[in-house]
Amino acid sequence: MSDEQDDFKRYICKVCGYIYDEAKGDPDSGLAPGTRFEDIPDDWYCPDCNVTKADFTALEPRGELADAGAAAMAWSATGGADDPNAVVIIGGGMAGWALAEALRERDPRRTIRLLTADSGDYYSKPRLSNAVERGVAVEDLVEERGVSRAARLGVELMPFVRVLDIHRAQKRVITARGGIPYGELVLATGARPRRIEFPGDAAPPLSVNTLDDYRLLRSALEDRDGAPSHTRVAIVGAGLVGCELADDLAAGGYPVSLIECASHPLSGLLPGALAEDLQNALAERGVEWHMGATVERVDRVAEGTQRLQLATGEAMEAEVVITALGLVPNRDLAERTGLACHQGIEVDALLRTTDPSIYTLGDGCEFEGKLRPYVETLRGQAAALARTLSGEPTVFRPDAGIVQVKTASLPLNVCPPSAAGGDWVEIAGGASGRHLEYHAEGRLVGFALSGDQARRVRELETRLGDPAADNRPRLAS
Ligand SMILES: Cc1cc2nc3c(=O)[nH]c(=O)nc-3n(C[C@H](O)[C@H](O)[C@H](O)COP(=O)(O)OP(=O)(O)OC[C@H]3O[C@@H](n4cnc5c(N)ncnc54)[C@H](O)[C@@H]3O)c2cc1C
Repeated sequence: MSDEQDDFKRYICKVCGYIYDEAKGDPDSGLAPGTRFEDIPDDWYCPDCNVTKADFTALEPRGELADAGAAAMAWSATGGADDPNAVVIIGGGMAGWALAEALRERDPRRTIRLLTADSGDYYSKPRLSNAVERGVAVEDLVEERGVSRAARLGVELMPFVRVLDIHRAQKRVITARGGIPYGELVLATGARPRRIEFPGDAAPPLSVNTLDDYRLLRSALEDRDGAPSHTRVAIVGAGLVGCELADDLAAGGYPVSLIECASHPLSGLLPGALAEDLQNALAERGVEWHMGATVERVDRVAEGTQRLQLATGEAMEAEVVITALGLVPNRDLAERTGLACHQGIEVDALLRTTDPSIYTLGDGCEFEGKLRPYVETLRGQAAALARTLSGEPTVFRPDAGIVQVKTASLPLNVCPPSAAGGDWVEIAGGASGRHLEYHAEGRLVGFALSGDQARRVRELETRLGDPAADNRPRLAS
C-alpha cells in the first residue's frame, strides 16, 4: 500500500452507518476514488439516508488484522479476567460496539468485556438492504473484524459466546464457558425477526437481520446459474426491510413479488399519498405487488422451486422466499432474570433496568413505552450511557425518531407525528418528490419527505414544534 493510500480516512454517517471511504470515493454520486472528505461539496448527501456531510464523523484508522489478534490476546492477558468492576456488554451488534467505543473514549482504564453469540465482526446493518444494487459483496460489508476492533479499543472480546443466564445476586453472567463477573452489565442483545411457519412442505423461508442471514440470502440468490432473471424472489411483508429488499433485488434484476396483508406498504408509517408513490416507484422497477393478501401455504414443487398459495386465490412460484414481518426484541434473558419487560426491556431515563446494575440499549430497549430500533437512537443511547457508566449520570434524550426508507427508486425520510388529532398537509409535491407536514393544534409535529425533498430532513427537524399556519388542503392520512 502506498503512503498516500495509507493516509486515506473513513467517515461514518451517524444516522445510518454508511461509511465514506476516501480511497473508494462514491462514484454513484460523482465522487471519484481518492476524493478527500473535506473536498466533498456541501450539497453532497449521504447516499443511503440523505442527511448532509455535517452528520458524518471520522472513524479511527483500521487496525492491521495480523497484529490485532496478538494485541487483543495481550490485552486480555493483562485485562483482569475476574475484574469484579468490569463493564460487561452482552451483544456485538451496532449498539454493543457503539457503547464500547464511547465508553473507552471517556475511560481509558475501565475493564470492558464484550460477550457476543456471533463473531463480533463490525458491519453496518442498514447496508444489508441495499448492497445488491451497489454491487457490494457480502464480505465487503464487514467494516472491521471483531478482534481488530477489540484490540483498537482495548476491549476484551469473547466471540461465539452465548450468555445463558444472569445471577444478579452474585453479579455474574453464566455462559457455556463458565461464569463472568460484572460491576455493571449492559444488555445490547438486539432483536430477532418475527417468524412464521407456513403450512406446506417447503423449507423455512429466509429472513434478513444479521450478516449471517444475509450471507445465506446472497448465496441462495447467486447459487443458481448466475442470471438473476432466473431466480424469482417472493417477499412476505411490505414493511421497511421488505420494501428496501424488494427495491434492491429488483434493481439487481431479480423478479420480485411483494406480498402484504395491509392495503398499502409501510401502512403504519406513511401517509396514504406517499405509500401510493412508493408502490408505484417499486412497480416501475418491476416489483409485482400482492396487497391485502396472506400466504396460506408454501410447497416445494421442484428442486429449488416453491409454490406460494395466497388466501386471495392467487398462486406464484419462487426460488427464494423471504419473510420480513418485523422484529421481536430479545428479552428472554432479561425476563428469565426477573427484569421488568413489556415489548422490550424496560428502562428509566438513565437506561437502567429494574436492577440498578443492569442497563440496556439498542433494539431490545423499551424507553418511555416505545421501541426505537434505529441507528441514530442507539448512538444517542451509547453516548448517554457511556457518560453514566463513567461516573456522570446522564439522562438519555431521544431523537425525533426519523425513519429513513432507503428505497433508491423513491427515498423517504419520515418523522412520525408526535401528537395525534391533526392533519397531513402537502407543502410541495411533484414528480420528483413530495414534502408533507403533519400539523396538530397549529404546530408542526411530524413530516414525510420523498424523492429529492427527502434531503430537507435536517431543516424540517429543526422546525419541529414551530407554529404551522397553513391553509393548504388537508390530505387523507
Ligand atoms: C435490513 C435492515 C436494514 C436496516 N436499515 C436501517 C436504516 O436504514 N436506518 C436505521 O436507523 N436502522 C436501520 N435498521 C435497524 C438497525 O440496523 C438496528 O436498529 C441496529 O442494527 C440494532 O443494533 P443492536 O446492536 O441493538 O442489535 P443487533 O444487531 O440485533 O445485535 C444484537 C447482538 O446481541 C447478540 N446476542 C443476543 N443475545 C445474546 C446472548 N444471549 N448472548 C450473547 N450475545 C447475544 C447477537 O449475537 C448480536 O451480536 C435496519 C435493520 C435491518 C435488519
